[in-house]
Amino acid sequence: MSKEANILKSDWDVITIGGSVSGLLAAKGIAEAGFTVQILEEDLEIGIPERCDGLVSMKCLETIGIAPTNRVIQNIIKRAILYSPSGLTIELDASRQRVLVLNRSQFDRELAKIASRSGVDIKVGNRVTNKIEKDGKVRVESKSNIQTAKWVVNAAGCLSLPDKNKILQAAKFEVIGNWFDRDRVEIYFNQMKSPGYFIWVIPISSDSAKIGVAGNGVNQFKILDEFIASKEGTVVKKTAAQIVVGGPIDNFLSGRIVSVGDAAGQAKPTTGGGIYSGGVGGMLAGKYLGESLSSGDSFRIKEYERAWRNLFGKEFGLLLQVRRILERLDNDNIDKIFTAVSSSNILTKISSESDFDYHSIALLKTLGLKNIIQIASIAGVDKLESLRSLLRLSK
Ligand SMILES: Cc1cc2nc3c(=O)[nH]c(=O)nc-3n(C[C@H](O)[C@H](O)[C@H](O)COP(=O)(O)OP(=O)(O)OC[C@H]3O[C@@H](n4cnc5c(N)ncnc54)[C@H](O)[C@@H]3O)c2cc1C
Repeated sequence: MSKEANILKSDWDVITIGGSVSGLLAAKGIAEAGFTVQILEEDLEIGIPERCDGLVSMKCLETIGIAPTNRVIQNIIKRAILYSPSGLTIELDASRQRVLVLNRSQFDRELAKIASRSGVDIKVGNRVTNKIEKDGKVRVESKSNIQTAKWVVNAAGCLSLPDKNKILQAAKFEVIGNWFDRDRVEIYFNQMKSPGYFIWVIPISSDSAKIGVAGNGVNQFKILDEFIASKEGTVVKKTAAQIVVGGPIDNFLSGRIVSVGDAAGQAKPTTGGGIYSGGVGGMLAGKYLGESLSSGDSFRIKEYERAWRNLFGKEFGLLLQVRRILERLDNDNIDKIFTAVSSSNILTKISSESDFDYHSIALLKTLGLKNIIQIASIAGVDKLESLRSLLRLSK
């Protein structure tokens, strides 16, 4: 469709709300199937502000179809070190997992370029204020106009989730310092400072890093200010954002509205990482919306939800259990788990056998029954049913 036609157009096959990873990928799939699609993005620029740290696997980039160039990749991670509240450490070799740090703004811009080349019309600075289903269409009201579409993709991120209990407030700082290990991510657990979560340090280079924290009922900026003061460093950027940790919503489809990415709860309940799982959500929604529109069979879109749950349902179920356990642990319990894990020989196995994108299933398989029972008893998961469900999910 010509640019002039897009300017005048007010009736679309699909309107996508949100121009980040999941919305861009959904829209790209719809355009490639030959249908008209517009993205309405409230920010003034795709990828800005950067609210995410961009830790992903190489498999994520390959699946999403972004070339692994220096423009997009800021760093390659080979190791991870976990700190317990009292300073015990667990070090993992992550070289097999091919973990990357993305320039997330650039990554989104690359996706926008690909989507635009496929025929997606992107309008930035356009906040959607309302969407109403009527007569088999959806009326979408935005800052600049009112339009209609056969389908709407809700890719508006976690703030569009109806259940705000699924969201944690997060903060991310960019820091210049001299204590970063260029190829090592650092994770600090402390239930007094960041209950149910952790502080992360993701190096961009040997003298700069992205440092973040999440949690509710705590002052994220204060926690990070204190953490950085204890280590030294200069904060050059502070960003507040949210992560979603409550798992997938019950229905990705509501009438003619299809939710994807964080808006569908498609981020890992343990870390809030959602570039891969939410991106795949966008790709699947795009594929099945394209098929639905081509065939005129609106039930075809239901396959999107089935396909996503087939890929991630079990893993996310397990991660939710892990989150519930983590929320209940106190600092002593965490120290005991660190001691139990480091005194066994499983660390080498975890390093060599785990999968960045499906880490919990791989982790449980590696831990084995004896270690799971030991950790579960430290964590107070003594109810047989909880343990059974963990083991069932790990099969
Ligand atoms: C501090 C932090 C660090 C993170 N680090 C990682 C990481 O290392 N690895 C990882 O995999 N994940 C990480 N995540 C999670 C990751 O950022 C998200 O899972 C991912 O960006 C979700 O993509 P999305 O497209 O679903 O939604 P979002 O990226 O949230 O995008 C939603 C878009 O919708 C727009 N929008 C919202 N409302 C409207 C409206 N009404 N009208 C128009 N536009 C609207 C927003 O402006 C935004 O651009 C992190 C998140 C945070 C907060």
